[in-house]
Amino acid sequence: VGSTATREPATREPSVNALLPDGRPVQNLEDLLRSRAIASPESTAVISDDGRTSFRELDIEANRVANALLRDGVRTGDRVAYIGANAPSFLSVLYGSSKMGSILTAVNNRLAPGEVDYILSNSEPTVVVLGAGDEGLSDVAAAVGSVRTVVTVDGSANSVSWNDWLSGAGDDDPGVSRLPDDTALIFYSSGTTGHPKGIELTGANLGRALATMYHLLDLDTDSVAMCPVPFFHVAGLGLALVTTLGGGALLLKTIAGPLELVALMQEYRVTHAVAVPAVISVLTSLPAVREADWSALQFLVYGAAPMPLPLLQDATKVFGCSFLQAYGLTESTGGVTMLTPEDHRATDESTAHRLKSVGQPMFGVPIRIVDPVTLEDVPVGTRGEVVIGGAHVMRRYWRNEAATAATMLDGDWLRTGDGGSFDEDGYLYLHDRLKDMIVSGGENVYPAEVESVLSGHPGIREVAVVGIHSDRWGETPIAVVVRSGDSAVTEAEIIEWSRERLAHFKCPSAVQFIEELPRNASGKLLKTRLRQDFA
Ligand code: ATP
Ligand code: MG
Repeated sequence: VGSTATREPATREPSVNALLPDGRPVQNLEDLLRSRAIASPESTAVISDDGRTSFRELDIEANRVANALLRDGVRTGDRVAYIGANAPSFLSVLYGSSKMGSILTAVNNRLAPGEVDYILSNSEPTVVVLGAGDEGLSDVAAAVGSVRTVVTVDGSANSVSWNDWLSGAGDDDPGVSRLPDDTALIFYSSGTTGHPKGIELTGANLGRALATMYHLLDLDTDSVAMCPVPFFHVAGLGLALVTTLGGGALLLKTIAGPLELVALMQEYRVTHAVAVPAVISVLTSLPAVREADWSALQFLVYGAAPMPLPLLQDATKVFGCSFLQAYGLTESTGGVTMLTPEDHRATDESTAHRLKSVGQPMFGVPIRIVDPVTLEDVPVGTRGEVVIGGAHVMRRYWRNEAATAATMLDGDWLRTGDGGSFDEDGYLYLHDRLKDMIVSGGENVYPAEVESVLSGHPGIREVAVVGIHSDRWGETPIAVVVRSGDSAVTEAEIIEWSRERLAHFKCPSAVQFIEELPRNASGKLLKTRLRQDFA
């Protein structure tokens, strides 16, 4: 432990990339699929509503997409947008665009038409592919100046159908292999804190980011992975890539609701799953889940939002598998710290508090905590802004030099906007986004701390704490609560519970009850919305 809160992993070997089945490091998306299709051509790559697709078949469909794109005039470095829910066609377009050197732009299909228009106008794709159910966006897509072709499942007035698009496109691989520092794909930030920004991730970013997960998750051709996190989000795509790298099958059947999700996980004996805490919370509340046999499930990976300790403890009992928490941003190609299965199994009283952390930096990721004003490193134990270095950090924001400069410290350290501190053992604790911190009567209130105390109340299923204006204190915390089951817990009882456990200034001055907390597609709480609604 150094004198400042900088955690530099002890060993930094040059080759900590994930390796392809042929032994070369992962440096782009196209070789990932190619290598896998050579190593296990007949293994199942995808299980969908249409049955099973082998790696050989997926590879050929990707070739056809690549040739269709070439035919449509797409060139190296051009963008190809995919807007849709998780589906096999996402993978064909992802790998197909890569095989001819264009850049996939993964877009959230749940955005409003105006937001989709913003992202398409910003990324300027040549071709836009819409998933099943998202045909309604074809007008928006077709109206964007750069767009030459819109592809929908069935074709409509201003689009071509998927089958027509691919008919006549050859099966041969165009054979492009991009360089590690070329942009491999663009995600758009979810816009929790402002306008969405394009985040350019390179092949090298992906190769490095997959390494730790790949080594831990122990995937092989018998693995079946389920991903109720969208592929247009780095966590969802990460699981898809790591599964294909390991030769496992991705279960991509359409799911109508949580009960169907559970039934599918059982039927296909899912071995690996990724889920956000909000989904885990819904699942553990279902009797069908509590009674089921989860012996096939090996790993549950979670992250993207804070995990309440009582929920984690309950979920550990229910699923009985290995748990892995990751913390990261789209800008850091996903997880940069991790709470390992071993950390989750620790029963030692003296280390139990680690379950409230987001774990330790992954291999090869330097992480610093800096004072958000002076940008100087702070001592261990002190709160500050989490800053990430190393090969996980994005190339830049797409066509946005100002935002890139404002986010990158000294050119290559990523400012996260997350408050955090390290303990003496190198575990990272998050203390909210700096923008969510509440200053009440001159005291800093960290909503996560208050939320964690309140979520220990048996009558509370979910809670969010936000600051609202107060004439007396500047800001004051209020709690927005979803009651559990048939609980009738009252405002007074909740405030009383917090007073027994927290300093006075941290206690909510009011409690509002709500049916469901507002979240975006990636499970993130929309605190801006709550602040507006309850102002
Ligand atoms: P935008 O940047 O557009 O506002 P966003 O930050 O929500 O959107 P992401 O990059 O998907 O988009 O999310 C990264 C953020 O998610 C982190 O900065 C952190 O606040 C939160 N986060 C990620 N993992 C965890 C975790 N394990 N525990 C708590 N919070 C997490
Ligand atoms: Mg962010």
